[in-house]
Order: sequence, then C-alpha cells, then structure tokens
Amino acid sequence: MIPIAYWRNRKVYTRMVGSKCKDCGAEFFPPVRVCKKCGSRNIEEKEMPKSGSLLAYTKLSEPAQEFKEYAPIYLGLIRLDNGVNVISMIADADEEKLKAGARVQATVRKWTEDGKGGLIYYGYKFRVLQ
Ligand SMILES: [Zn+2]
Repeated sequence: MIPIAYWRNRKVYTRMVGSKCKDCGAEFFPPVRVCKKCGSRNIEEKEMPKSGSLLAYTKLSEPAQEFKEYAPIYLGLIRLDNGVNVISMIADADEEKLKAGARVQATVRKWTEDGKGGLIYYGYKFRVLQ
C-alpha cells in the first residue's frame, strides 16, 4: 500500500463513497469523474448501500505478499442493493455459507499493515449474513 494514496482515498475504502450521475441517476463504485452511461461530467459523491447479494466468489490460497498472512483470502463479486457490482474481500468466510444469492453486509476491517509498528490500513470487507 502507498500511504498517501490510501489517505486520499480513505472515504472510498471505509465508507464506500462512490459516484452518482446527476443527469441520468446512474451510480458507480469505485467513483468516476465521467458517467459511464451517458458521458456527463455532472457527478456527485454518493455513499453506496452497505448491503447486497453475493453473485460469486473465489478463494486465493496464494495472495500477494502483503496479504500472505491472511491466506486463504476469499474474494466476492457482490451486487449492492442499488445494482452496482463490487469486488471485495469477504470477512469471516465460511465456505458453507458462501453461496450465490447469500445476503452480505459491509463492515470495516483491517486490510493490511506496513510491517510491525507500521501503518494499519482499514477498509470495507463484506460478511455473509445468517
Ligand atoms: Zn449519466
């Protein structure tokens, strides 16, 4: 992780602030400067809903170096309740509950840290609801 980039984008990572087009109403996450639907630049910030459904997932047994201590990592493709699709790590993953259509909710968790005593990065992860 690059600390300055993280700091600049922290509301995206912790509050899931995306974009909404003021002209056509389309919503996007991560945020965009230009509407991918109508091309408008009339964009406002919009916090995404924190709940949705799991569409699919994959298990990473050998993640990138900075995430190795958290292996295996589960990555989910999630459709938020506003229709926006997001790829997210899944917290507290239990393979028995990871099924297409399962309801999921965003929580803020530790993503990674820069070594012992370094910066700790927090961000959204989704967990499966019972
Ligand atoms: Zn638009």
